[in-house]
Amino acid sequence: MKFNFSIKTQRLKYKLWVVYALMFILPAIFLGYIILITLFPNLLANPTPVPILKLSLIFGGLGSVIISLGGLFLMSRSIKPVENITKEAENFMVELGKGAVILTTTRDEGEKVSQYMTHLIMETRTKMNEINGYAQQLAETNTKLNELAVKDGLTGLYNHMYIKERLNYELLRAREFSHPLSVIMADIDDFKQYNDRSGHLAGDQVLEKVARTIVKNIRPIDIPARYGGEEFIVILPGAESNKGMQIAEQIRAQISQLNFYPKDMVSPISLTISLGISILSEKIVSSEEIISQADEALYRSKRMGKNRVCEYINPSG
Ligand code: GH3
Ligand code: MG
Ligand code: MG
Repeated sequence: MKFNFSIKTQRLKYKLWVVYALMFILPAIFLGYIILITLFPNLLANPTPVPILKLSLIFGGLGSVIISLGGLFLMSRSIKPVENITKEAENFMVELGKGAVILTTTRDEGEKVSQYMTHLIMETRTKMNEINGYAQQLAETNTKLNELAVKDGLTGLYNHMYIKERLNYELLRAREFSHPLSVIMADIDDFKQYNDRSGHLAGDQVLEKVARTIVKNIRPIDIPARYGGEEFIVILPGAESNKGMQIAEQIRAQISQLNFYPKDMVSPISLTISLGISILSEKIVSSEEIISQADEALYRSKRMGKNRVCEYINPSG
């Protein structure tokens, strides 16, 4: 086993104790010994002859000097790093523009470093709190930005761009796990007429209320979006034809029972919605295809007199 000892790597406190021992304890013991044998030469079994006493004084004195010098050397080695760090800390404080806070109540480097460090730790804590605050603000802004990027500002539903991407993903998932999937397309009936009669603002309120009704009637796993103007789309992962039809019918029925009160109208106005539904089949290869089938079913609802739900019928059977 290799013995690895370096005085450089020892703790400062330990080093200073060694210095203390070297500078005071050893010479003190030696001095004590000299005094003792000078005063009481009879204490020794064979009293030391004078030349030996002289020799021990010379060697002892020399030893003390060497040991003291060793202590001095050790102490200077310990002090150097403290002086360096003090200088660095001082420069850093000036760089930080905190020159004014450099405390001059002491010349002791250790004390100075301790004061600078305390100040820097407090500063760092304050800065960290500020940074944490900014990070939180940034996270909130990012969340809002993400929401804005994928949501429709008026209804709070997902937007056209997002739903198209999401449909691609849901198609892949449905195929991978052999799950069914339905897509509902919905369009408010005669909305232009309502808008023309009641104003754009009233029309917007209708859009919001219709969106809320859609959300109320779908399952938490369904994904609703505003596809465009007064058109909505809902992806229903895992929903077979029956489930899709049931949800679409529920939406239709509830919207037909809503009452709208546009400004200056004496009696409430009701509106209807037409819906089309397409079910994922082996033949469908893309999200565009399932959307176009749901759209076709929707226009069949319109042709058949509106306010109804139609399922896509494959012309080739
Ligand atoms: P149909 O029953 O055949 O769907 O007739 P429609 O009148 O609903 O359809 P059309 O496409 O002729 O008109 C759609 C109207 O939707 C036109 C426009 O005034 C209205 N619209 C589209 N986007 C918005 C919107 O963001 N806010 C409001 N208030 N109206 C909108
Ligand atoms: Mg339309
Ligand atoms: Mg319409």
